[in-house]
Amino acid sequence: AIDFKWIRENKEAVATNIRIRNSNANLELVLELYDKLLNVQKEVERLRAERNVVASKMKGKLEPSERQKLIEEGKNLKEGLVTLEEDLLKLTDELQKEAQSIPNMTHPDVPVGGEDASTLRNMVGEPRKFSFPIKDHAQLGKDLDLFDFDAAAEISGSKFYYLKNEAVLLEMGLVNWAVSEVMKRGFTPLTTPEIVRSSVVEKCGFQPRGTNTQVYSIEGGDQCLIGTAEIPLGGIHMDSILLESSLPLKYVAFSHCFRTEAGAAGTATRGLYRVHQFSKVEMFVLCRPEESDSFHQELIEIEESLYSSLGLHFKTLDMASEDLGAPAYRKFDVEAWMPGLERYGEISSASNCTDYQSRRLGIRFRPESSSSSPRKGKGNSAPTQFVHTLNATACAVPRMIICLLENYQQEDGSVIIPEILRPFMGGLHVISYK
Ligand code: AMP
Repeated sequence: AIDFKWIRENKEAVATNIRIRNSNANLELVLELYDKLLNVQKEVERLRAERNVVASKMKGKLEPSERQKLIEEGKNLKEGLVTLEEDLLKLTDELQKEAQSIPNMTHPDVPVGGEDASTLRNMVGEPRKFSFPIKDHAQLGKDLDLFDFDAAAEISGSKFYYLKNEAVLLEMGLVNWAVSEVMKRGFTPLTTPEIVRSSVVEKCGFQPRGTNTQVYSIEGGDQCLIGTAEIPLGGIHMDSILLESSLPLKYVAFSHCFRTEAGAAGTATRGLYRVHQFSKVEMFVLCRPEESDSFHQELIEIEESLYSSLGLHFKTLDMASEDLGAPAYRKFDVEAWMPGLERYGEISSASNCTDYQSRRLGIRFRPESSSSSPRKGKGNSAPTQFVHTLNATACAVPRMIICLLENYQQEDGSVIIPEILRPFMGGLHVISYK
């Protein structure tokens, strides 16, 4: 339920928004299709009304010739309606497709511009100083026998990997730790389907098809592998009206993520930085509209507290308008220092998608009346509203492994495990040469 009426009434603001987000959405075409659709709808209604008039006339006493005339008229009206209803379906489809690319509106505090325009929100810690020559995670992994990229390249292709030995404990420990930490803050844990219908991918604001799609599709069916748990989490309450008293709904989910990384050729090809399959713990919130800004702050604070407790040095950024993607109204990214790679790398991202996904997914709630009537909840005729949705990374495993190996390496080539992770790794406190 995209609000085309609102888009038309706010055409200037929508056009400006498309421009500042450097989106390729075609607003003129969307509005043209919408006008056409309204006209066809009107025509359909007109013909239906006429048909009703003819039908009621038929009930009366009529001369045979008159009756014959009315039968003819009714037949013509019916044929006209069938054609128009087909047009209506086609137009609705075209309009929905074209409207997919119209981005969400933008929070007034979002810096306008490209990646460089993003502003610093917070900075935690400082880069560790090493008194010895350091290695990057790929070298550390090789020396400590933690990964096998060669075998994975043979059996799957490039940008796949096997984790081995302590790296397996590290992945499982990180996942278990992140889920446990987020659960402490009142989130419900879930694991999710990792194959979903393409329509759900689309309703969450991702493009399941096309040359530059990040999504793997399953041949011969209409399903995709998920690029993030955000998709099955967004879909879990699809087409439903939630009780206001059940909000907020806060979920933390573990899933694998699959990404084609189309268009990313040549960037950060070494090691685990950009791979086709990875494990991730994701947070997802459905809430009342007036609460989404404060939940966005809560999500980024959870991320900051998780990464601080791992002892990482990182900065959080208020992402610039051209870097938001279509669904986000505002997005905070966390970039952590990766000493071996000698740069900051994105480790997580928290987005407030307001009603962008809920409109497409059909997730509403009915505000409960403020009176203390005993029938509260039932017989309540307050109009429904769309919930707001937010998503945020708690722990994307490969880049977390990069941070931990590179930051906690020792002069003898071993890697210390941060204290808080040890209980989740059978007490392991150091990864040493075998
Ligand atoms: P996104 O859902 O694109 O915001 O990504 C969430 C997090 O997943 C990022 O901050 C990265 O830590 C991680 N991530 C995204 N893409 C990849 C990839 N191809 N390989 C490894 N980690 C990734």
